[in-house]
Amino acid sequence: MTILVKGGCLCGAVRFSYKEKPLGRRACWCRTCQYMATGNASLSAFFRTETFVLSGPLASHVSTADSGATIRRRFSPDRGTPLFAEDLGQPGVMVVRVGALDDREIGGPESTIWTGSAPSWGRVDPAPPSCAAHPAGSCGTGRPFPG
Ligand SMILES: [Zn+2]
Repeated sequence: MTILVKGGCLCGAVRFSYKEKPLGRRACWCRTCQYMATGNASLSAFFRTETFVLSGPLASHVSTADSGATIRRRFSPDRGTPLFAEDLGQPGVMVVRVGALDDREIGGPESTIWTGSAPSWGRVDPAPPSCAAHPAGSCGTGRPFPG
């Protein structure tokens, strides 16, 4: 299987790849993502961990998300580039921050979650399905949502 997706951190010390396309993509307006994304929604693509290859160091912190899930967020230790998140209750799936992908075109969101937490000026794309909070199911995409 050939590598289909590559990415890394701002300085290039961390690099990663997958041999398959993302399972799904989303924008998230939860309060934690607004801290991480300088006040905006975060953009994420999620992948199965099976073909994940990583080189370089990672720092991490674990916290409880607005959904109640226990989330481990990982970033580059030198410059703090947000890279990954994992719902520790859902092994086998990981979230990748779209800004870390070499080809950000593959990260266009197919849904938006936690729109009810967006500030009044927040721009929520009306085209894809959206959920005011964490989706109980698939948020209209037919795919599961980690975290
Ligand atoms: Zn979020």
